[in-house]
Amino acid sequence: MEILVQHYQAVCERITQATKACGREAGSVRLLAVSKTFGVDAIRTVAACGQVDFGENYIQEGVEKIQQLRAEPATAALVWHCIGPIQSNKTRLVAEHFDWVHSIDRLKIAQRLSEQRPEHLPPLQVCLQVNIDGGPTKSGVTPEELLDLAQAVASLPRLRLRGLMTIPDPHPDEAAMLAVHQRTAQVWRQLQSQLPDQTLDVLSMGMTADLALAIEAGSTLVRVGTAIFGRR
Ligand SMILES: *Cc1c(COP(=O)(O)O)cnc(C)c1O
Repeated sequence: MEILVQHYQAVCERITQATKACGREAGSVRLLAVSKTFGVDAIRTVAACGQVDFGENYIQEGVEKIQQLRAEPATAALVWHCIGPIQSNKTRLVAEHFDWVHSIDRLKIAQRLSEQRPEHLPPLQVCLQVNIDGGPTKSGVTPEELLDLAQAVASLPRLRLRGLMTIPDPHPDEAAMLAVHQRTAQVWRQLQSQLPDQTLDVLSMGMTADLALAIEAGSTLVRVGTAIFGRR
């Protein structure tokens, strides 16, 4: 468990350094600790370091951890982000248990989440997943489809549209990787200007391998699993 604390602190340091290196304001990049496949003990340890935001990919697995940890005072206030694909038959679980969803790429899923979000909870905070570099088989909407989906999602009563999420293919060439991230940042800024009455303050971009490049390109939230919890 001690090693987990060291890994967590090293990731925080990487984020601080990357933010400083490109002249961005300290604290402008949020860390999402991606705990998929890891157990509640590991999450408790990282939460005890002060980490608040946790990300899960698999709905059923995530909900079991959320229910367990919400019942414990030390972890009751953690914020849970769904970052994996969502099938129609899982929307109710997501709407009832998560605080955020990053992986919206179809209106039908967004509509179900809005309808199923319980009245006693605040609106579900959502990002649209954008497919910046992939073919038609990859998850996410294309930049061309983005505005229509964003307008429709923004009008749903129980969702709050917050920005974009992207999972580009890994690229060994850093300059090429940076260029992909910069294209996504450009699409995000364009959407901000197209929907000026929405607070689209989140660009969810960057993982263990590419977080510094994502921060350089303008990411406001990096999703880090392996560098904190170890290999899956
Ligand atoms: C697993 C996952 C991550 C974390 O990836 P690492 O390379 O382990 O940091 C981030 N985002 C999404 C959508 C994931 O599925």
